[in-house]
Amino acid sequence: MTLAAATTPRIVVLGSANVDLVVRQPRRAEPGETVFGTSFQTGPGGKGLNQAVAAARAGGGVAFIGAVGDDALGAQLRATIEAEGIDTRALRTTAAPTGIAQITVTDDGENSITVVAGANGLADLRDDERTLIAEASHLVVQLERPEPLLIEALRHARAHGVTTVLTPAPARAPLTELIGLADVLVPNAGEAALLAGVPDVEAAAVSLSRAAHTVVVTRGADGAVVAQEGEIVSRVPARRATPIDTTGAGDTFTGVLVAGLSQGAPLGEALAAAAAAASITVTRPGAADSMPTRAEIDAALA
Ligand code: ATP
Repeated sequence: MTLAAATTPRIVVLGSANVDLVVRQPRRAEPGETVFGTSFQTGPGGKGLNQAVAAARAGGGVAFIGAVGDDALGAQLRATIEAEGIDTRALRTTAAPTGIAQITVTDDGENSITVVAGANGLADLRDDERTLIAEASHLVVQLERPEPLLIEALRHARAHGVTTVLTPAPARAPLTELIGLADVLVPNAGEAALLAGVPDVEAAAVSLSRAAHTVVVTRGADGAVVAQEGEIVSRVPARRATPIDTTGAGDTFTGVLVAGLSQGAPLGEALAAAAAAASITVTRPGAADSMPTRAEIDAALA
């Protein structure tokens, strides 16, 4: 038995793992045209992997339920996740290829992204994965895995008294069933407005908190707002930062929030750590690569 297998992680993240393939180029190619890019980088990504890394770096005990392909990119992702000290007992290797996000960044600063889900399309929950969830304190999911799988996992968590955390991204409405299964819902402002069907962020948070227990809406440099049972209960200021790349800010926020909650921190304290951590992520390039360690978060809070 390995050391990881001997301990029970308190946080289980069920989500996507992708390799981001980032090409920078002066402009988008026309159909049939070839343009020369100026740079190419790869890095780990996928909202599931990102949130797992954020929670682990913040000191949470994390297990990841996910899937990669039997290919070089899959081996790379597995090594990345293991290097973070995340339990990979439930990281499966499948016949489908590793998921990728092909990201084109043009000189006008616009992104266009194509995601191929590949192995992330795996839709069943094995018995050992059900056990891992039942023994956790928190189950964390996003929307980059098949919806029936997410519903099954959330229901299973609920049945075992496990706190459920849902990031409704990439957003699509209405998601009524999923939201009703969330103890903690963490949308960004655009997602909250879409799901609630109202443009005002605080009104959206209030509305969503009638279905999910605690709703934390992140609003970029404006911080976050928290609603419970139809009322705004707190506002969390963002910390001052000079952003250079905000990719992964939301995933850092959620991962660090859950790490705090799983260690018994009060909601306000966990939110303050989440905001401090996300303010560090925005000052560095990349997604998972840009996330801070516990020591860095503590230094920012001090
Ligand atoms: P992304 O998609 O870029 O990962 P998101 O849209 O999911 O982000 P945001 O609401 O933009 O999430 O940001 C999440 C949190 O990150 C905010 O609540 C805030 O605490 C922090 N944050 C984001 N942008 C900034 C910024 N410019 N300065 C300081 N903190 C920031």
